[in-house]
Amino acid sequence: MDVEVRLTDSSKGKGLFTKKTLKEGSVIFDEEPLVSCQFSWNALYKYKACDHCLRPLETAEENARRLTGKFDLVLPYPECCTTVKDTIISCEKCGVEYCCSECLINADTQYHKILCIGSKERSGCHPLELLNEAWKHIHYPPETNSVMLIVRLLARIIQAPDPQVAISQTLQFCHRTFNEDAELAHKLLGEGFANQISHLLSLLQQALPHECIQQFLTENGFKSLLALIGTNGQGVGTSAISQWVSKSSELPLTDAKKLELDQFIDKLYEDIEKHSGTFLDNEGVALYTLQSAANHSCSPNAQATYLHNNFKVSLVALRDIAEGEEIYISYLDDCTLERSRHSRRKVLKENYLFSCNCEKCMDQADQPDMTSEDEDESMSE
Ligand SMILES: [Zn+2]
Ligand SMILES: [Zn+2]
Ligand SMILES: [Zn+2]
Repeated sequence: MDVEVRLTDSSKGKGLFTKKTLKEGSVIFDEEPLVSCQFSWNALYKYKACDHCLRPLETAEENARRLTGKFDLVLPYPECCTTVKDTIISCEKCGVEYCCSECLINADTQYHKILCIGSKERSGCHPLELLNEAWKHIHYPPETNSVMLIVRLLARIIQAPDPQVAISQTLQFCHRTFNEDAELAHKLLGEGFANQISHLLSLLQQALPHECIQQFLTENGFKSLLALIGTNGQGVGTSAISQWVSKSSELPLTDAKKLELDQFIDKLYEDIEKHSGTFLDNEGVALYTLQSAANHSCSPNAQATYLHNNFKVSLVALRDIAEGEEIYISYLDDCTLERSRHSRRKVLKENYLFSCNCEKCMDQADQPDMTSEDEDESMSE
């Protein structure tokens, strides 16, 4: 392992540090998540992904047809599609689909045995279905998180050979006080929905009535899980089309053929935007033990990317990083990251409860603490 988690010399607690010099563009590490799940609306709208690893289950052509609404569309260079349909397999009881038998087995041994609803029970009234429904009505697209991640986290504890080990793996994500947890849970649910905590919790208690997770099924325990996914949940995106685009762009083509392909791809994205807007990917959220140990900077030296087109995250160096240097990622989306110091720090304070004192924020310390009205307008939810 080229990195280590250790205490920082600032107030941030732990951080992630390199143990060797890294070149810009190099993969610092790959990591599979402790748990992950697809977003609820994303699944409902038929973005077809492996229920375990989020790998696309559509071919690039099927994906392109669905997203453009053009059902006779033909993609050139079909050999550039990376989806393997032959290995797709579904759970015999409930029908959820996996990209391969390995994912089915991993899901089954880690959490799915407890969560499999079966087909007969799938009436819309199972507590898990009601919980998912309740969550969907709190979080309309664009989605950023899912209560089903909490469900899988708890099912993982119940199914673990030693629940105590799984509990301590879960608790390593929590370093906060009850008050901070409550504030973050409130933020994740939003103003109008914070009073629904007891409703969500009662559905969760009915869905998973297990002794070994009692500490999480109290109001404070549940708030701490909401805070956990709110601050550590990392967005995951996979796409059959983008795989096809990157593979086909590497083909050794003549200039004329290359131009033809580029024009085809431009038109494809235009048509997708018209029919599906900005929702291109299979999207979900995941918890990574190592990646989540990285602190935030508004000028990060690393970035989480999905090079494997599934839930495996790759942390990539954005510039050369010296041995022993701390690795920083950005907790802000690209758009917020480009905003003023004041706006960035406001979002970080509200969503992560810390005042950013990164290099960039220190350099910009003489910027006024008020932004233009327009910016604050577009910042408010
Ligand atoms: Zn899979
Ligand atoms: Zn099942
Ligand atoms: Zn900053």
